[in-house]
Amino acid sequence: MEQKTLLDKRNLGNTGLKLSCIGFGASPLGNVFGLVSHNDALSAVRRALELGINFFDTSPYYGATLSETVLGNCLHELAVPRGDIIVSTKCGRYADGFDFSAERVRRSIDESLARLRLDYVDILHCHDVEFGSLDQIVEETIPALQRIKAEGKARFVGITGLPLGVFRYVLDRVGVGSVDVILSYCHYSVNDSTLGDLIPYLREKGVGVITASPLAMGLLTESGPPDWHPASPELKSACRAAAVHCKEKGTNISKIALQYSLMNEDISTVLVGMNSLAHVEDNVGCAAELRNAGIDEEILQEVEAILEPVKDQTWPSGIQPN
Ligand code: NAD
Repeated sequence: MEQKTLLDKRNLGNTGLKLSCIGFGASPLGNVFGLVSHNDALSAVRRALELGINFFDTSPYYGATLSETVLGNCLHELAVPRGDIIVSTKCGRYADGFDFSAERVRRSIDESLARLRLDYVDILHCHDVEFGSLDQIVEETIPALQRIKAEGKARFVGITGLPLGVFRYVLDRVGVGSVDVILSYCHYSVNDSTLGDLIPYLREKGVGVITASPLAMGLLTESGPPDWHPASPELKSACRAAAVHCKEKGTNISKIALQYSLMNEDISTVLVGMNSLAHVEDNVGCAAELRNAGIDEEILQEVEAILEPVKDQTWPSGIQPN
C-alpha cells in the first residue's frame, strides 16, 4: 500500500478543512534549529507533499521572515496547485518585537502573502498572544483579522500561545465564530499533555485544535534541544534520560513522542518542525506504523515513568499572569 493512504486527514473544527494528521512546521526553514540549504528545504517540502502532508505552518517571526520566503519559494518551484495545500501564517510577533495593532496586522498579511507568493492564506493566527494585551487582542486584533478574512486574504482566524489560560480568556470574550482555531504548542506530548483538559471546552466552542512541537522543540530527540531552549535543567535531563532509554531499547524517543501526540484524534493535526527529507520520511513512517501496529505500550510506559517527576512541567512565556 502506498504510504500516502496511511496519513489520516482530520476535520479542523467547523472550518471544513481536512488536515493531514501530521503538519509541516516550517520554522526550521528559517534556520531556527540550524542552517538549512535551499535544496534540503525543497526536498523536505517535495517529499512531504508526495507523502500526503497537506498542511504547512509558518510565521514572519521564524528566521526574521526567512521561513515564509523559503516556504513560498519551495511551493512556487514545485508548482503546487493552491487548492491542494492548507497554509497558515501568523501576525503580531516579529523578530524586532510584538505589535498586535490593527494597522500592523493589516500590513503584516500583505507582506506575508508577498513572501509566500500566495493570494491568500488558509489560516492567519495572532502569534503568541500572551506577549500582548489580551484585551487588545479581543477588541482590536481579532476584529482586524475579521476584516482581512472578509477581504479574502485569509480564510480562517486563529490564535496561538504557550499558556493555556490565554485561549479561554480570548474565546470567552469574542463572538461565536470570530476565532476558528487555536494553535497550542508543547502541551500535548508525552512529557506534558495538559492541552487535553481544554479540548472539551474548545469542542463546545466549535474551535479547531492544532498542537505543535510534539518533540517539545527538540527535547524529545536523540540530538537534544537547541541552546535557546527554555526548559529547566531538570526537564532537559529527564528528556535526555528518556532518549537514552529508548535508544538502548532499539527505538527512538522522537517516534514514541510523535505517536503519543497523534493518538488523540480530537486534535486535528500535529505540527512537527522538519528541515530534511529524512525527518519527513521518519515522521510519516511513525504515523503509518501507529496506524498499522499501534504504539509500543511497553516502551511508552517506561518513557512515562522516566518523565513522571517532570510531568506537565512548563516554562514562563509572555506577560500574562497565566
Ligand atoms: P518540534 O517539537 O516539532 O521539534 C522540531 C525539531 O525536531 C527540529 O530540530 C527538527 O529538525 C527535529 N525533528 C523533526 N523530526 C525529527 C525526527 N523524526 N527525529 C529527530 N528529530 C526530528 O518543534 P517546533 O519545530 O518548534 O514545532 C513544530 C512547528 O509548530 C513549528 O515549526 C511551527 O510551525 C509550529 N509552532 C508554532 C508555535 C506558535 O505558534 N507559537 C510554537 C511552536 C511551534
